[in-house]
Amino acid sequence: MYFDNAATTFPKPEPVYAAADAFFRTGAANPGRSSHRMAVGADVIIARARHSLARLLNVHRPERLVWTANGTEALNLALKGLLRPGDHAVTTALEHNAVARPLRALERQGLRLDRVPCPDGVFHLSSFLEAIRPETRLVAMTHVSNVTGAVLPIQEAAARCGEWGIPLLVDAAQSAGLLPLDAAELEGTRSCRVLLAMPGHKGLLGPPGTGALYVSEGLELVPLREGGTGSLSERDEQPETLPDRLESGTLNSVGIVGLGAAVEWLLQTGRETLHRKERALVAGLWEGLAGCPGVTLYGPPPGPERGSVVSFNLEGWEPTDLAQVLDESFDVQCRPGLHCAPWAHQSLGTLPGGTVRLSPGFFNTEAEVEAVVRAIRKVAG
Ligand code: PLP
Repeated sequence: MYFDNAATTFPKPEPVYAAADAFFRTGAANPGRSSHRMAVGADVIIARARHSLARLLNVHRPERLVWTANGTEALNLALKGLLRPGDHAVTTALEHNAVARPLRALERQGLRLDRVPCPDGVFHLSSFLEAIRPETRLVAMTHVSNVTGAVLPIQEAAARCGEWGIPLLVDAAQSAGLLPLDAAELEGTRSCRVLLAMPGHKGLLGPPGTGALYVSEGLELVPLREGGTGSLSERDEQPETLPDRLESGTLNSVGIVGLGAAVEWLLQTGRETLHRKERALVAGLWEGLAGCPGVTLYGPPPGPERGSVVSFNLEGWEPTDLAQVLDESFDVQCRPGLHCAPWAHQSLGTLPGGTVRLSPGFFNTEAEVEAVVRAIRKVAG
């Protein structure tokens, strides 16, 4: 019983396996590198995947959506591509290390960083707004906490950032494919320039090794790496146009083709269908555990504005020990510890052990939820 979908979703929709397998066996030439029909075909299929993801995110200029290896690379590209020594940036105390660590590295090079506290894991828009200054160069915030499932108000943040002309970086790792994430709507809010970073392998249901970054018009990023793009090869300078500027080197074409199939499947199935199902699974876990002696639950209660993670602790148990028992004795796969988000655990008061995190996905069932709750009740007993 796989309840670790916040780390990576499993299984994937059937068309993902079929598309990746067929492309890998018959069409996986290097896209954009040669002019033979196979390479052109690969280029077309990659472009199609980009258009599908652009449609899901309501991105009007698909070329501004660049492929990355994962969510971490998308976030690094946004942060390191924009921020310079002496700049001021604002972030939250709920961020994943994929945001925290690049920001810390940039701080060592002279970045001035304000981290807005989130006492008890709760984000307060007022403290966030207080931290923003006229010279702030970037606001970086997660959309959904990967520890508590709390949803942060990115639309309001975009409105304020737009007013002040500050770009907004959204870490959509736990929301893309699940919650409304609309690039045009965020940009429309007083002309906010946004960066949307996401893995392809979580809620978007694509293969591991995939991710994407959307870059609003008017934002110029310094590439993380320079190299071959298959375009303007006579020049030894990096091309200026997107996506090539930010996509040097051979792409993970097999993964991207799988991701394209996943996004098409999502568009057909309907994001709201997935969210409704996952909401019910989260509610089942929460309600089942709330009545269990010794259990402490973290984060907001189930509701429409929530991600698909349920973090908890059981009195007398280290999270790692409990997760091991759940895996070995009950065949439940979940994640214990800090979930790469030490700041969030500092806010919740759950350092050093962290929590046990159950993260249901679309392919989990009510019966599995009941079995997980029974297992935890049995251990508690
Ligand atoms: N941000 C959040 C909130 C996450 O939960 C994760 C992954 O767990 C990431 C960023 C990093 O994504 P990836 O593992 O694809 O690099």
